[in-house]
Amino acid sequence: MSIHRSRARNALASARSELASDEDQRLKYAALELRMAIESVTYDRATAYKSEFPPHEYETWQPKKVMLVLLEIDSSADSDSSLSFGIEPSPGQTPEVMKHLGDEVVFNLQTIKKHYDALGSYLHSPILKQVNSGKQPDYIKMRRRCEEIASVLERVLSSPVFNSTFGVFSSFDCCECNVRIRRRIPRGIDSLSVDCFECLASYTLTRTSDGEIRMDPHQHEIVCANTDCDHSTVILHREVVNGRFWICKKCGGRNEIRLGIVYQASN
Ligand SMILES: [Zn+2]
Ligand SMILES: [Zn+2]
Repeated sequence: MSIHRSRARNALASARSELASDEDQRLKYAALELRMAIESVTYDRATAYKSEFPPHEYETWQPKKVMLVLLEIDSSADSDSSLSFGIEPSPGQTPEVMKHLGDEVVFNLQTIKKHYDALGSYLHSPILKQVNSGKQPDYIKMRRRCEEIASVLERVLSSPVFNSTFGVFSSFDCCECNVRIRRRIPRGIDSLSVDCFECLASYTLTRTSDGEIRMDPHQHEIVCANTDCDHSTVILHREVVNGRFWICKKCGGRNEIRLGIVYQASN
C-alpha cells in the first residue's frame, strides 16, 4: 500500500473517532483529519500518473489543483471504474467469459469541490460578525457533512482495485535530453501540446488517420543577426525568452533574444 493510502486510512480512523465522541467541540478536529484524508487520496491518485506529472510539481498544491491537472492528462482520471478480464477466443473477439476483478471508487473533483473548502472553513475561529450576532456554528450541518465525507472516503479506501489507468499512450524519448516522455491522449482529442519535464523541449502530438501518434518538436530555425553572416541555428520554442543568447558557430558573434516595445506617437 502506498504511503498516501495508509496516511488517508489513519486520518479517516482519527476522524471517525472524533465523530464518535459526539462532542460538537471536537467536530473541527474531525474536519481537519478529513481534509488530510482527502489530500492523501488525491496525492495517491496522482502517483498513478507520476511519469506524466512528477510529485515534486504538486508537493505544495491543494487537491483541487492536483485533480485538475490529472484531468488534463487523462479526462477519466477521477472516474470510477470496473476492472474485468477475459480470454479472447481469437484476437479482437469479445471473450465469452469475463472475470470481474473489482470496482475502483475515486474521490472525484466534484466531491473535492463540494467539501474541501467547506471543511477548511470549520478550521477557522468564527468571524467577528458571527461572534457579535451570538450565532452558533451549525453543528448539525457540520456533523452531517463530516459523516458524508467519511463515508465517501471509506468507499474510496476499501476499493479492491485502485489507481488503474487506461488510455492511448504515446511515449517517446525527448530529442534533447533522451528522457522518456509519456502522455495519455484523452478521448476525443486529436492533438496535444506536451512539455518535457527534464529540459526545455516541447512537442505537439497528433493522432493520425491510421491511429498512430505523430510527434513534432517545437523549434525555430533562426538566422544569425549579423547581416554579413547567413548561418542558422535551431532554437527550442521554450528557449525563446528575453536575455537568452547563443554564439554563432560561423562568425563567432553573440545573438541575444530581447523583448522590445516600439513606440509610435499619435500625430
Ligand atoms: Zn527533454
Ligand atoms: Zn553568424
